[in-house]
Amino acid sequence: MTEAVIGLGSNLDNPEQQVLQALKELDGIPGIRILKTSSLYSSVPVGPQDQPDFVNAVALVKTELEPEPLLNALQDLENRHRRVRLRHWGPRTLDLDVLFFGKRIIDTPRLRVPHPEFRNRVFTVIPLLEIMPDFLMPPENTPLRDLTGLLPERDLRALTIIRESSRFPFSSAGKPDLH
Ligand code: AMP
Repeated sequence: MTEAVIGLGSNLDNPEQQVLQALKELDGIPGIRILKTSSLYSSVPVGPQDQPDFVNAVALVKTELEPEPLLNALQDLENRHRRVRLRHWGPRTLDLDVLFFGKRIIDTPRLRVPHPEFRNRVFTVIPLLEIMPDFLMPPENTPLRDLTGLLPERDLRALTIIRESSRFPFSSAGKPDLH
């Protein structure tokens, strides 16, 4: 069993519903169980600006799957959401990324973990900080909270909380437990 962090994003076809539905489906995949989910956030797009804002969240999962089978499962889920990709960094119905896979460092043609863009993106750093404030990032065990000082003010303002907590299975309100 490995604890992995999955990033979710959507900016087409009712993005908030896409992300909430994807969280439920993620938990239904054999060998994957959600432990915690962040709130949902709205973020302005990276890259082309002439597209809708994104809805983002992160989930901490426990998985029996090895990294590549996990990626396969995430890509199947993306396809079930009829993911549309018209251009690089363009709009998409659902984007799922493996942000962390335990403390493993993976660098294969299909999979780079920790996700190379994780630390540059306010919409991955802040939601993860919400559920894992004491997380130490591989490979050097850098505290996640150290990244906040490095994120540009403009990016922080471009991120808005839109749903206070989406804690799975979405039955109870309030903030997720912090550990
Ligand atoms: P994107 O459309 O930006 O989500 O990129 C999808 C491609 O990124 C897929 O072909 C994956 O094989 C590759 N990829 C590399 N590293 C990762 C990762 N950590 N999580 C998800 N996809 C990844």
